[in-house]
Amino acid sequence: MKHTTHNHRMILHVDADAFFASCTQATHVTYQGKPLVTGRDRGMVIAVSYEAKARGVRRGMLISEAKKICPELIAVESDYETYSLFSRRLFAILRRYTSEVEEYSVDEAFLDITGLRKPLKMSYEKIAKDIQKTIKQELNITVSVGLAPTKVLAKVASNKNKPYGFVKISNFSIEKYLKSLPVHEIWGVGNNTASYMNKLGIFTALDFVRISPESVIYNFTKPHQEIWRELQGELVYPVITEEKTSYASISKTRTFSPASSNKTTVYAELIRNLEGACSKARFHGLVAKRITIFLKTQQFTTVALEACLTRASAYPKDITAIAHQLFDSLYKNTVQYRATGIVLSDLQENTSIQQSLFESPVELQRLQHVYDAVDNLTRKFGSKTIHLAASMKPKATPLSPVKTVREMKEEKELAFSEWLKNGGILGNKHLNIPQLFGTMG
Ligand SMILES: [Mg+2]
Repeated sequence: MKHTTHNHRMILHVDADAFFASCTQATHVTYQGKPLVTGRDRGMVIAVSYEAKARGVRRGMLISEAKKICPELIAVESDYETYSLFSRRLFAILRRYTSEVEEYSVDEAFLDITGLRKPLKMSYEKIAKDIQKTIKQELNITVSVGLAPTKVLAKVASNKNKPYGFVKISNFSIEKYLKSLPVHEIWGVGNNTASYMNKLGIFTALDFVRISPESVIYNFTKPHQEIWRELQGELVYPVITEEKTSYASISKTRTFSPASSNKTTVYAELIRNLEGACSKARFHGLVAKRITIFLKTQQFTTVALEACLTRASAYPKDITAIAHQLFDSLYKNTVQYRATGIVLSDLQENTSIQQSLFESPVELQRLQHVYDAVDNLTRKFGSKTIHLAASMKPKATPLSPVKTVREMKEEKELAFSEWLKNGGILGNKHLNIPQLFGTMG
């Protein structure tokens, strides 16, 4: 599909600013505004926050090197699960504006917003800025946006004023933006092509667009002829709206030592992981439709089972009944276990609580309030503040400072489990035929 200049398009390029570092700062309030890098696990700087960039820290440096330049640098391990969750939410926000979204990379997208002024009742500029604002509000990260008649120009524009920048390139302002752009910075022009261009006396993108059509055809291959046309404002590359099938999931696992065959202990570990995974899902406003539990034995074999939930949820109490059934079918009292884990998958945005016909909305709402309180306390005091009674080790657990809330929560959970028993939602009949994965490693 090709568009000519007569069929004028409006393309947005949305590009998150210092994405991995920003995700980390968005999930850790205390890191905000501070110099931070990711990549500690590899000893090398992978992503750099703007605060660290300002201090001279660069991608690819050794962490030790970077710390010499910036002693208060925070170095964290990469957390690709979190990045992919942010990525999915970012694309979900973009799809509220149009289905014409191309997921170009984990933190970049192209949108064809041609013709959306009327239905959205906004100018193209306003749409771009509204997208920026919504992402900032909901994800607490910033994106830079470029608006232009082609993808190559939109990419030039988004890169022009980072971070949180907005640049529009129209057919009349193309020259202004291309004159200071070195050819090696043009999207799709590699280093070899750039030095070849330099030999021809072409140093900037403007030099390139100014050569004649004959010269372009004579000197360059088809891909570079297309870039030349895109830089002129002629759309050659359409926005490819195919949704990437990325199956985001949230997993939590923990190894414990010594290994144990005590059923209560192993189950408590599993439920603790369930709570951790659910807490992460709720932080991202997501609910899961599928749960996998796994147990790792002392012999390093792993057994796993998965099941579908009747209703997508991120509340442990919704899921423990099913987790317990899965656990019962996996657990063997002759085996020593060294780790348990949980995977929440088929994640979706928790836009509204999806209720099945058998559920009591009042009860569900109460449960939601309880977990809102739990999440607030967790944010203030850390993740170990509150947990389900089932995840407490058989040993005595010291009382936490938020006893009343915990009591309240247990009360609710008791009421909830009663209600579950009386024709509840997660009975045996809803359990998918468990699938045995066997040994996973
Ligand atoms: Mg980016």
